[in-house]
Amino acid sequence: MLRKKLIAGNWKMNKTSADAVELAREIVAAIGQKPDVDVVLCPPFTALEAVAKVVDGSAVKLGAQNMHHEASGAFTGEISAPMLRAFFATHVILGHSERRTLFGETDPFINKKVLAALKNQLRPILCVGETLAEREAGSTLKVVQTQTEACLEGVSAEQAASVVIAYEPVWAIGTGKVATTEQAQEVHAFIRGLLTKLFGAQTAGRIRILYGGSMKPANAPELLAQNDIDGGLIGGASLEARSFVDLVNAAAAAK
Ligand code: PEP
Repeated sequence: MLRKKLIAGNWKMNKTSADAVELAREIVAAIGQKPDVDVVLCPPFTALEAVAKVVDGSAVKLGAQNMHHEASGAFTGEISAPMLRAFFATHVILGHSERRTLFGETDPFINKKVLAALKNQLRPILCVGETLAEREAGSTLKVVQTQTEACLEGVSAEQAASVVIAYEPVWAIGTGKVATTEQAQEVHAFIRGLLTKLFGAQTAGRIRILYGGSMKPANAPELLAQNDIDGGLIGGASLEARSFVDLVNAAAAAK
């Protein structure tokens, strides 16, 4: 298999530092050395340092849920890429639909973050996806194309190989409504085509495209068996060790 599957847990604004350590310990104990799937935990900023210590020496990697594009300065409440690197974070979720809709993040703003992450050797997990109204209006592919192209503006083919894309239909996030495998695979294949135009077939073939939106152990095997679905960005089901570990095992079985 050209692309190793990747399962990333987005804990959102959940877990105190102590709770996060407990969850991370359970996950590391269950899958800490699994070499056949990449596993990334994205706790809240306040738990990054503590979780970094738990995953140290295991195969589990650390990610953040957001960052600012500047390295330092007068940006009250923000966190920069060098600060994340200091905790040995390797990944950062950018452009999540909650950041776009609740905090007004735009494609050009997310693009600055993508470029800053890459400059600081952080792998962006770039989220794209349509709302229910956009899907019903038949504009899913157009929306995904605009977001993908705008957020990756100025990224070189060499840099693109370390980007991860997460296709997250907004109507499926935290709603229990999962996209059908056909709906998901159609958009993933479309994104792969876009990446091919932007960066060439070889690089596009190496970029992982994750599905996100109510992925659970019950629906994961079918999704993960699709040609262009290279893993999952998991919200709700990442908050409990059993379901998250089951998802990692599903990814291992799907390879
Ligand atoms: C997410 O927020 O990235 C997500 C996929 O959430 P959930 O799995 O809860 O739908």
